[in-house]
Amino acid sequence: MSPHIPTNEPNPAETLIVGGSLGGLTTALALAAQGRSSTVLERTAGRTQRGVAILVAGADLLAALGPAAGRVVAEALGRSAMSQYALPHAWWDVYSALRSAAEADPLITIAEKANVVEVGQNASSAWARTEDGWTWTADMLLGADGYRSVVRRHVDALRPAADYAGYVVWLGESEVPASFRGRIGGPDFFTRGSDMLAVYPLIDRAGQVTRFGWGWFDPHRNGLFRRLGALNGTEVMRTPRTADIPDEVFATMADAGERQWDEPWRSAVTEAFRAREVIATPITEYLPDRVTNGRVAVLGDAAHAQTPMTGAGFQEAVADAATLADVLGGEDAPEKALQQYELVRLADMRRRVAGGQSFSRSFAGR
Ligand SMILES: Cc1cc2nc3c(=O)[nH]c(=O)nc-3n(C[C@H](O)[C@H](O)[C@H](O)COP(=O)(O)OP(=O)(O)OC[C@H]3O[C@@H](n4cnc5c(N)ncnc54)[C@H](O)[C@@H]3O)c2cc1C
Repeated sequence: MSPHIPTNEPNPAETLIVGGSLGGLTTALALAAQGRSSTVLERTAGRTQRGVAILVAGADLLAALGPAAGRVVAEALGRSAMSQYALPHAWWDVYSALRSAAEADPLITIAEKANVVEVGQNASSAWARTEDGWTWTADMLLGADGYRSVVRRHVDALRPAADYAGYVVWLGESEVPASFRGRIGGPDFFTRGSDMLAVYPLIDRAGQVTRFGWGWFDPHRNGLFRRLGALNGTEVMRTPRTADIPDEVFATMADAGERQWDEPWRSAVTEAFRAREVIATPITEYLPDRVTNGRVAVLGDAAHAQTPMTGAGFQEAVADAATLADVLGGEDAPEKALQQYELVRLADMRRRVAGGQSFSRSFAGR
């Protein structure tokens, strides 16, 4: 096939990035800080939230983003709040900050509703074909397309899919009741039987904690998620839409929450289930053998999906972005630079995923 360049892209970018969430945006910004242009292909328009609470290693993130984008992000998240590594930021705050910085950068183009269905490469370029029939080309292609990565299929055809970790996490975000303000410490974890509730106080731009994110780790829903088509064998097919989950499941969860958890978390959790304001996320893990194939590489969850118990998914994506910017900043050809990326990052990626797998095996009883 002969790849063509979409007409809306008269001056094609040097890099294609598939996926415009936290990993893809951070990578685009880190490359821009080195003077490298990119086009980000994102299948949705608007947000595709994964997680409610994101731990930001402020100094690492700012170093990866460079001064211009770093200023935008620090202004949005609050410089002093960013230095408090113990407290996570709301997912949406981190996404909005990165997205604003990317939109302000002339080296970055974001194409939405660009659902990539196939990627490939030849001796001089890499390409992505989107569902609407366009083929986009560039010097190289980076897959930041999450746990069900299309790009991973090209990078490691023998092991294209991430594995289901054996449990789902019900995610919500709630207000800290006024009577508990100022009395909330760091993230906390509570277990009852085989369930676990993780609570994450969220730091805002002003350094205040008025909201918290929570995740209820639940190993009992495999049958339900299979019936909903979210699971097939050991593979997670998708995150089910809240609308598809039967009312009685929400009612059962609300009743169990009432019995199991203590205040102030109990009211927040049960109210969220009664209002169906919960995202059910089947957890996946991917222990990579390789993250590069020629001019194509994967990063973030596409490269090393891990349980949120590591608390490090974003931190690892930032490390990927910083390393990619570093290796691509030299004189090497893309293939050589991406080989170097794999050499530098693969062992750490594997260590982090394997650490999470130990937790998952004991939690899900596998
Ligand atoms: C329940 C849960 C809780 C988490 N909690 C934390 C935490 O506390 N701390 C932390 O650091 N990390 C946490 N994480 C992980 C963290 O969110 C990710 O590791 C990090 O944001 C990097 O994600 P990503 O951008 O690589 O992938 P994703 O967030 O999955 O984004 C992938 C993007 O690619 C797009 N995409 C996918 N396929 C295509 C395609 N074919 N074409 C075009 N676009 C496509 C998607 O729409 C999406 O925007 C959590 C994850 C989960 C699931």
